[in-house]
Amino acid sequence: MFNMNTDFGSMVFNDAVMRDRLPKEIYESLNKTMLTRVPLDINVANVVANAMKNWAVEKGVTHFTHWFQPMTGVTAEKHEAFISIEPNGGVIMEFSGKELFRGEPDASSFPTGGIRATFEARGYTAWDPTSYAFIKGNVLCIPTAFCSYSGEALDKKTPLLRSMQAISREGRRLLKLFGEADDVDVLANVGAEQEYFLIDQSMYDKRPDLIYCGRTLFGARPPKGQDLEDHYFGAIKPRVAAYMSELDETLWTLGIASKTKHNEVAPAQHELAPIYESVNIATDHNQLTMELMKIIAPNHGLTCLLHEKPFAGVNGSGKHNNWSIATSTGENLLDPGSTPYENARFLLFLCAVIKAVDEHQDLLRISVATAANDHRLGANEAPPAIISVFLGEELTDILETIKRGAEYEQKEETQMEIGVDVLPVFPKDTTDRNRTSPFAFTGNKFEFRMVGSSLSIAGPNFILNTIVADALSQFADELEKADDFLAAVDALVKRTIVEHERIIFNGNNYSEEWVAEAEKRGLLNLAAVADALPLFTMDKNIKLFEKHGVLMRSEVVSRAELLMENYVKTIHIEALTMIDLVHRMIIPAVVDYTGKVLDSLHKKKNMNISLSLDTSLEAKLAERLSGLSGTLQRDLDRLEEAVMQAARCSGATESARYYGTEVFYSMQSLRGSVDELETIVGGNDWPLPTYGEILYSVK
Ligand code: ADP
Ligand code: MG
Repeated sequence: MFNMNTDFGSMVFNDAVMRDRLPKEIYESLNKTMLTRVPLDINVANVVANAMKNWAVEKGVTHFTHWFQPMTGVTAEKHEAFISIEPNGGVIMEFSGKELFRGEPDASSFPTGGIRATFEARGYTAWDPTSYAFIKGNVLCIPTAFCSYSGEALDKKTPLLRSMQAISREGRRLLKLFGEADDVDVLANVGAEQEYFLIDQSMYDKRPDLIYCGRTLFGARPPKGQDLEDHYFGAIKPRVAAYMSELDETLWTLGIASKTKHNEVAPAQHELAPIYESVNIATDHNQLTMELMKIIAPNHGLTCLLHEKPFAGVNGSGKHNNWSIATSTGENLLDPGSTPYENARFLLFLCAVIKAVDEHQDLLRISVATAANDHRLGANEAPPAIISVFLGEELTDILETIKRGAEYEQKEETQMEIGVDVLPVFPKDTTDRNRTSPFAFTGNKFEFRMVGSSLSIAGPNFILNTIVADALSQFADELEKADDFLAAVDALVKRTIVEHERIIFNGNNYSEEWVAEAEKRGLLNLAAVADALPLFTMDKNIKLFEKHGVLMRSEVVSRAELLMENYVKTIHIEALTMIDLVHRMIIPAVVDYTGKVLDSLHKKKNMNISLSLDTSLEAKLAERLSGLSGTLQRDLDRLEEAVMQAARCSGATESARYYGTEVFYSMQSLRGSVDELETIVGGNDWPLPTYGEILYSVK
């Protein structure tokens, strides 16, 4: 039986364990490193490493690993046993501060987007003491950042850590102006709601497309999809409930506060949400959650699908990224306060987010741009590719009133001053949630809803932190110079509303009208990955990342290259899988079945059963089968040709465009023919489990 009091976090070398097992001065020194990121002394590291090893060995651990997050989007680990050989031939269990600090995995087999070509292949992993070490299986995992020898980030964690420094630095400048003490830090918090599908393992094993691509490439609509919406929040089936319990308990031992679980809209779709925490930890924890979701499923005869769109025509999976900024003393800076002063601060941070999102729509779009996510965005189940901010009617009205104050000011009439004589009553709970907005204010946090279910949240959050840090920095530049601070805040807030109100939209983001309206407002509509990614390396973006020390030019360029390559490879693998499946499974099935139909037709003829050829069932069926077979052949030829021609593209951008159009459309046509054949070929003769069989496979 799981005991929440004793088992929660039992596999984590957390604060309580450190306090208990480290000498006081060592504990304090480590704590200081964690809070203020000052480098750790090697002697301190030696003591910490030894205490970690002893703690882990008591729990049956034999190995340690530097756990890192390369650009593949999944985590990587290389296990090393604690053992060392003694001169007398015996072994001892050893783990030094140096081993804790730094590892040297060969970087040459990890994607680097060209950094490897210009620099050495060697890379190193460096301990991130702000995220606790933990035990997974019999391995002590040390969370680390992964860099090239010349210091370039080769992973998802490094830019995230750097962006946290940026938001801390710029946020503190503003807090100081509000009279906050010097040692009060600013940090970003995140709660990531994770959607996923669970299907029976036997169905998965029979679908090579799920195995190779994570999504089905074929499949006709089942008679019942999500039409009745009876799955949403429905009773959880016992097998799924058992899976969720094991998952929860495993997550809890790792200190991951999994809180809510429920059935989602699509059949076989579910969601898990943890309690929010600091963005770096939330990112590590979300990676672990995704990994464990997959690992635990087979214990229950299940397979967990994290792909953004496993089934066409059925809602895909996303990951709502709930983001806020708070002080280290626990005050949420996006929470409207109860005094004019707090409200002024709230309005300033709110305006910083609005300005950031408007000025960097491209980066937010890029942060969620993958081949898989393109199936979701704008498909009436997730926000469109157009970025906008939902504030709710009440808050928008307040901003309107403040802006009108600015207009009055121009007319030299009495003006309203924020923080002095205006104390708007802010809506505490925005219950009028707009589910269609990509970026919604939900009372005291923003919910970024475009993130794909399988995506590492490091990407969207390092972008979010950086763009908001930049807005805060511009605000601080202006306010630090002001003689009258509150009057300057007032003017700044008003001006920001005027300049950036075009990004605010409270209506239906799924509607056609919004697309036209957004265009009128001059908002970006980067529908496909190939439209979005080339903007990553624009001067404005490189300057932004360099200014805040988040990415160097070479890192931006290599990341853009990598994302593009990844997009192309994903579609390429899907196309090859389709071609393979059609040759080896679909065509044989269609030929066999057509043969059966013709056999029956001949038998009837031979037996002189009276039949009029143009009305007999077999004759009609044979005709349809042969017509569709012809289309299938043409579509297959077209896709094969498209894949062959792809080799002619020069450069990643051209390839991405080509794969996103020519190859993608050819795949869609081929799928259309196959799906139509599925509806007329006999059930026993069709080689793949159908959508109905898969989606209702968990009884
Ligand atoms: P829902 O959006 O499903 O109605 P909630 O709004 O309660 O549910 O929470 C969704 C997620 O947002 C949870 O992971 C929760 O911990 C997280 N969350 C709540 N408050 C904050 C906050 N201030 N900052 C970041 N995340 C938060
Ligand atoms: Mg939510």
